[in-house]
Amino acid sequence: MLSDSVKKIKGVGKKVAEDLASMNIHTVEDLLFYLPYRYDIFEIKPLIELIHEDKVTIMGRVANEPSLNFFGKKKSRLFFNVMVENVAVKAVMFNKAFAKKHIKQGDVVTLTGKWDAHRLQITVNKYKVGETQQTDEIQPVYSLKGDLKNHRFRKIMSDALNGYGEEIEERLPQHYLINYKLPIRHEALKIMHFPPNRKALKHARRRFTYEEFLLFQLKIQLLRKLNREATVGQKQDFSLERVQQFKNSLPFSLTNAQDKALKQILNDIQSPYRMNRLLQGDVGSGKTVVAAIALYASITANRQGALMVPTEILAEQHYESLCELYGDSVTIELLTGSIKGKKREKILSALEKNEIDIVIGTHALIQDDVYFHELGLVIIDEQHRFGVKQRRMLRDKGKHADVLFMTATPIPRTLAITAFGDMDVSIIDEMPAGRQEIETYWVKENMLERILDFIQKKIKNGEQAYVICPLIEESDKLDIQNAVDLYEQLATYYPSEIRVGLMHGKLHPNEKDDVMKAFINNQLHVLVSTTVIEVGVNVPNATVMVIYDAERFGLAQLHQLRGRVGRGSLKSYCILIAEPKGMVGKERMRIMTETTDGFFLAEEDLKLRGPGDFFGKKQSGLPEFKVADVVHDYRALETARNDASQILEEELLISDIQYRPLLQYLEEEGVFSLKLD
Ligand code: ADP
Ligand code: MG
Repeated sequence: MLSDSVKKIKGVGKKVAEDLASMNIHTVEDLLFYLPYRYDIFEIKPLIELIHEDKVTIMGRVANEPSLNFFGKKKSRLFFNVMVENVAVKAVMFNKAFAKKHIKQGDVVTLTGKWDAHRLQITVNKYKVGETQQTDEIQPVYSLKGDLKNHRFRKIMSDALNGYGEEIEERLPQHYLINYKLPIRHEALKIMHFPPNRKALKHARRRFTYEEFLLFQLKIQLLRKLNREATVGQKQDFSLERVQQFKNSLPFSLTNAQDKALKQILNDIQSPYRMNRLLQGDVGSGKTVVAAIALYASITANRQGALMVPTEILAEQHYESLCELYGDSVTIELLTGSIKGKKREKILSALEKNEIDIVIGTHALIQDDVYFHELGLVIIDEQHRFGVKQRRMLRDKGKHADVLFMTATPIPRTLAITAFGDMDVSIIDEMPAGRQEIETYWVKENMLERILDFIQKKIKNGEQAYVICPLIEESDKLDIQNAVDLYEQLATYYPSEIRVGLMHGKLHPNEKDDVMKAFINNQLHVLVSTTVIEVGVNVPNATVMVIYDAERFGLAQLHQLRGRVGRGSLKSYCILIAEPKGMVGKERMRIMTETTDGFFLAEEDLKLRGPGDFFGKKQSGLPEFKVADVVHDYRALETARNDASQILEEELLISDIQYRPLLQYLEEEGVFSLKLD
């Protein structure tokens, strides 16, 4: 049985069993599913494709009798020529004197070793005599502990497969195997361990990739469904007609992406379940407008709405833009930490008496003394800036309030599907027409003077600029020192009528607000800042963004910083000062100058960094897949997602016997007893 101890396998004694145990392998099944972490592929390539100093494999005919020399005590050197594609290649073997007996003039040999492209020479460490088929030789490599070596491990694996392989049962319904041309499970497993060729290996991997994704998707979708059914929501009967009227009153029509997101949100609002949705969209893609319409819908259902943002400035800006959108049709109030005493009491009492439709605020919204009459919709902007508890506190101010989270950090689709398992996701991936593209340049620091003069010209034009400071790794303190130095440098460089401001993390919140307000009001012309610069802050008059040490930032962060400009009708510029050493840094700079599409950048960032790095290792919350790779196998992930949703929709797990193994897996994983939230 697969659940047998590994000790039942021939060749697994006490010591080996201990080593296996340290690798978390206890049963035969554990062993069989302990997959190679990589494969060395010895593929025979044409000579001109061989790369100097690479490990290569070549095949040819031995042109002369190998000559053997001894030197030192036990050292030897075997030397011969091989004709490969009519070229004479030198082959050298050290300390393999015995090979002289095997290799004869006229033999066809396959040689693997280090390639010297200048001398057309291979230093052989593996050889094989005789015709080799044109197939590649593939060597699985396992991550092993203790005294276990690859060779020994493969022997054990081979015995295990021979003894137990047939017991591995299929999990996937037949028609998936047929439709996607996937090998059956135990065949695929055998191939993973002993791949006969590349093609077979590819198919086996495809099979397990799909299986992993399908199981994962079934799991999260089922959890979401169970969770949703368990959370009572409210059915908000809003007036579609009034919502339509409000939409028509806007000075523009929504983009398709906005319309789609809005439809999904309104659907949730109307459903009896509680909305738990994330709205993603690049800066300026028009999330706020969508939020405003959703809030409006909730009001027509006689509910109140709340919009929470991380800073006072953002709250004020949102307040102003919503007032403008709604005109007199909606009563809207601002509630922040600086609103105190009588004024605050008045707002709180009006809120409780339902005299306020929408309240916009900061953390001030989640204080204990804030009560709503009937809170219908909660919107949380820049959601990552709030803790889980804070988000929940606002939600719980209502009975079954719907919740919409918003974020301007484009999260690659790939990750969005996996990372936000318990949230529904809407994406606005289209910009309103008529935006001016931000021009992005990548320069070296010796261009600084020209940059400063360029800024000066823009300021003479009435425009403003940000300068983001050089970064010092792992030191906030030195970063701030840098900011102070740069601030002083610029203040001295520019004539006194050009006013330079300074912003960094150690300023008191009030000071920060003052600086920001001065910049918003164009009393400061250049803002020198560390990366604390507010996300989402809107200064349409700012048209230049200079970023020092740009190579040290990820693409997502550079894009966020760049998003501070280009918010008005004026042409905007982003200047990246960077002297990247590595390929990745150079690649980042190149991509930045070539695109302003946040989702595209996010995908590229992910490719350059890998999923673990994207959110930071700890908070990634991404599941680990053994075979699958969320970035490269993204298409398979989408397929699996659709299949999983069909399986759940049509209730195939219960109605169709072919799906029993999947159901069994989900039961074993405890999905049916688990609940999120
Ligand atoms: P976000 O919150 O996603 O950063 P906003 O909702 O603040 O974006 O929109 C940015 C700007 O674009 C605002 O001035 C808004 O009025 C405008 N806008 C939003 N949607 C559209 C649209 N469909 N067509 C034209 N302008 C739009
Ligand atoms: Mg916004």
